[in-house]
Amino acid sequence: MDDSDLKKLIAEDADVILHPASSISALLSNGPQMICAADGCMIEDAQGRRYLDAVGGLWCVNAGYGRAELAQAMKEAAEKLSYYHTFSNASNPWQVQLAEKLLSIAPAGLGKVFFGSGGSDANDTLIKIAWHYHALRGQHKKIKVIARQQAYHGTSVSTASLTGLGGFHKEFPLPLDFVLRVECPHFYTRALPGEDEAQFCERLIDEIRQLINTTGAENIAAFFAEPIHAAGGIIEPPAGYYQKLKALLAEHDILLVADEVVCGYGRLGSWFGSPLLGLEPDMMATAKGLTSGYFPMSAAFITNEVWQVLKQGSDKLGAFSHGYTYSGHPVGAAVALANIELLEREGLVDKARENGAYLHQRLHDVLDSNPYVGEIRGRGLLAGVQLVADKAQRRLPDAGDKWPLKVSNAVRELGVIVRPLPSVATLAISPPLTISCEQIDTLVMALQTAINQQLAPLS
Ligand code: PLP
Repeated sequence: MDDSDLKKLIAEDADVILHPASSISALLSNGPQMICAADGCMIEDAQGRRYLDAVGGLWCVNAGYGRAELAQAMKEAAEKLSYYHTFSNASNPWQVQLAEKLLSIAPAGLGKVFFGSGGSDANDTLIKIAWHYHALRGQHKKIKVIARQQAYHGTSVSTASLTGLGGFHKEFPLPLDFVLRVECPHFYTRALPGEDEAQFCERLIDEIRQLINTTGAENIAAFFAEPIHAAGGIIEPPAGYYQKLKALLAEHDILLVADEVVCGYGRLGSWFGSPLLGLEPDMMATAKGLTSGYFPMSAAFITNEVWQVLKQGSDKLGAFSHGYTYSGHPVGAAVALANIELLEREGLVDKARENGAYLHQRLHDVLDSNPYVGEIRGRGLLAGVQLVADKAQRRLPDAGDKWPLKVSNAVRELGVIVRPLPSVATLAISPPLTISCEQIDTLVMALQTAINQQLAPLS
């Protein structure tokens, strides 16, 4: 695109677009970054500059950009059945085939799938199913939902309430009061002096136990958990946390909901994060990697036990009155199925595990000794690099100093995209599962250069 066309487009963007999760004033002064093409792990801006996208869009382009077979699957479905709804017992072959495929790879016990359009609506659906499930069993007061600090579950009214990042509540009357908040399970930033991981874990579970006791289990419907917190900092709980959590919740008839919107579909080197981390979900939300971002689609899963309650309630209740215009969209289902088959055919889940191990090894080799890097965490092709102002004291930089933004901007100047997570001074990495070892080397070296360039002069 030539310069004058680009200037015009940027001016038009400012005139007509309200950007999601963006600073309006920064946009008005700097303009948007106009992305016009992408292939493999690379994105290309309007001036033809190419970047290694080590975030996979927003943690979602698992199969990589520009896959012809995915475009073809969409085209074929759109030509055959561009759309028909799935309300009032309507269906289509694509959603049935997809659900069968998904249930064959889903964690044990999950038996039914509900389709929507994105991660927020999948979580929203599961909040409502949790309420519905309890109400149908006569437990109408079971309404509260527990979520953790630093969680990210979406930005709809209900899911922004579950989200435990203050920025998503500012100047909105949120969180709604159905949400109960508990500690973020991050040992590095939350452990007390002298506490070991097992004690930290015990303290977290005790806190939840006390919350259940003071609130009354009869008032609590569910607990939402990302197996590994993504946007909140790539945070994995201490060993044994999910097993203890599940036992506690089961004792109190509280459903455990796994938010696998980021972890699902190979990101951690297994189809889903829950089995890897010992999390046994009663319900599970997925989106993003379901279609590798080629179509806005989500899949929310429930166990057969939950299903039985819904089924038994149906005669007296009539319709399950929840759904979206695009639930079970044939084009989305076709591309999701083609995407899962592609991940299988190319062995990309195993590759995420192998190249993920290489990524973590390289990050440790190059950054462990860096005075501004306190912790490297994550699994598979999901990684977080914790920036610290004082490594010995584990002191994070002041938010106002904007270290993650400065470093990610410098990384971008070197031709690589990483995601700054300002609330925990972390840089997030979540590339397409097709990333090569050479591209991982490029990414790690860019990170090292940018950290040294940006932070050494500041300290
Ligand atoms: N849950 C998690 C763990 C996420 O990371 C996200 C988005 O990043 C969501 C839910 C919300 O998904 P969406 O933006 O598609 O509504």
